[in-house]
Amino acid sequence: MLKLSNTLSGKLEPFKSIKLNQVSMYTCGPTVYAHVHIGNLRTFIFQDVLKRFLRYKGFKVFQIMNITDVDDKTIRDSGAHNIKDLRKFTDRYTQAFFEDCQKLGIDKPDHAVHATDHIEDMVKLIQKLQSKGFTYEKDGSTYFKIAAFPNYGKLAKLDFEGIQIGARVDLDEYEKQDARDFVLWKAPKKGEPRWETPLGPGRPGWHIECSAMSMKYLGETFDIHCGAVDLIFPHHENEIAQSEASSGKPFVHFWIHGEHLIVDGEKMSKSKGNFFTLRNLLDKGIDPWVVRYVLQSVPYKSQLNFTMNAVKQAETSLKRLRDFKQRVKTQPLDSGKSLKVQKGCQTMLQNFENAMNKDLNTAQALAAVFDWVREVNTDITDGIVKADDRCLILGTLDKLNEVLVLWESEEVFLDPQIQQLIDQRIQARKSKDFILADKIRDEIFNRGYIIEDTREGMRWKKR
Ligand code: AMP
Ligand code: ZN
Repeated sequence: MLKLSNTLSGKLEPFKSIKLNQVSMYTCGPTVYAHVHIGNLRTFIFQDVLKRFLRYKGFKVFQIMNITDVDDKTIRDSGAHNIKDLRKFTDRYTQAFFEDCQKLGIDKPDHAVHATDHIEDMVKLIQKLQSKGFTYEKDGSTYFKIAAFPNYGKLAKLDFEGIQIGARVDLDEYEKQDARDFVLWKAPKKGEPRWETPLGPGRPGWHIECSAMSMKYLGETFDIHCGAVDLIFPHHENEIAQSEASSGKPFVHFWIHGEHLIVDGEKMSKSKGNFFTLRNLLDKGIDPWVVRYVLQSVPYKSQLNFTMNAVKQAETSLKRLRDFKQRVKTQPLDSGKSLKVQKGCQTMLQNFENAMNKDLNTAQALAAVFDWVREVNTDITDGIVKADDRCLILGTLDKLNEVLVLWESEEVFLDPQIQQLIDQRIQARKSKDFILADKIRDEIFNRGYIIEDTREGMRWKKR
């Protein structure tokens, strides 16, 4: 059974979904005022691995991700670039974000929702909080009255005593010691975008965005809410206050927070300037699959120190896996199948799943994969692996790839007839009967596949 660290309970808990075999999941997306850095991407990759592993375990996952396209930082930087139209400024970073995700094999959410498209939903939520007595107004801004919500602090484990009752904070981000009544709706300021609403002119605070959008698409109570640990306070604490005060119901069952990517002992962040974007790394000639490998190889609950040494190690590991796949694809094998190989695949998948069940222990899961690779490599050399095992081994790699995404997924020949032709062609080439090899290639072509012989070995693709 899958166990996940739930920040709310502070415990490792067996995962149980509200609806049978379905998971509703909200992931706080990027704030689109610059290119995301690889620290941000580490978080998006851990969420992708979680989503993919839930699917692997048979859940249907419905994921919403928000795009924070209005907040203190987007407004600050669009102003600094002299771009009046906020959406015009943020759209290019939204697009760049999805390009990065695609390069890293991060699955698209079912809906990526923009904050600026949901102002009306935010206003309605604030009005509901108003009607229930959780808000007050001051100088055109509306605040959440945390004294009216006794559960405030349950996620970040705040000591309620320390909270400054009646004091206010207008910033989107602030520290625990500054826990105060936070802003839901901000009065208009000169040079800032504003919306005319029943609350008066102005713009939303950051926290109300996620409460309004998550509840709109996933309902008042849903399964999983994710982010990195910096979002626990104040963002997620405030989301709980807003959502539970309005609905009177528990907001989220599992709060899952990833640890940070760090550089020289410090959190990678835009404000510190100690960051790399994916583009920076690709410009250095680093393969995007290697970047993904580095970012997911350390379990999400541990900090990950980003170094070029880690990149080198990931390159070596990934090369071993790729070479293995290529060897299995092209090695001439005797006909038949081996019980040992079949059992080995099963055992490895079981070990992989057991490791992932333990709070997504990707390091242990990868160790199980490498043990298996070593064993199968030896079995190939010893002639134990037979032609009918080829499909099974490649299919097993494909299953792993559905969760960890080590490379672009490709088709495995589940059609045994085509697999047989491939095997015959490998044998023909081995015995230098190139006329027969070409004839078989034409036959495979007629059945819808193109075979290419490259320096790295044989490749195939659908016609
Ligand atoms: P932002 O674009 O700042 O809203 O952040 C997007 C996501 O990246 C959020 O879930 C953050 O918590 C997360 N994040 C920010 N910095 C880091 C870091 N150094 N390591 C891992 N995740 C991070
Ligand atoms: Zn959020």
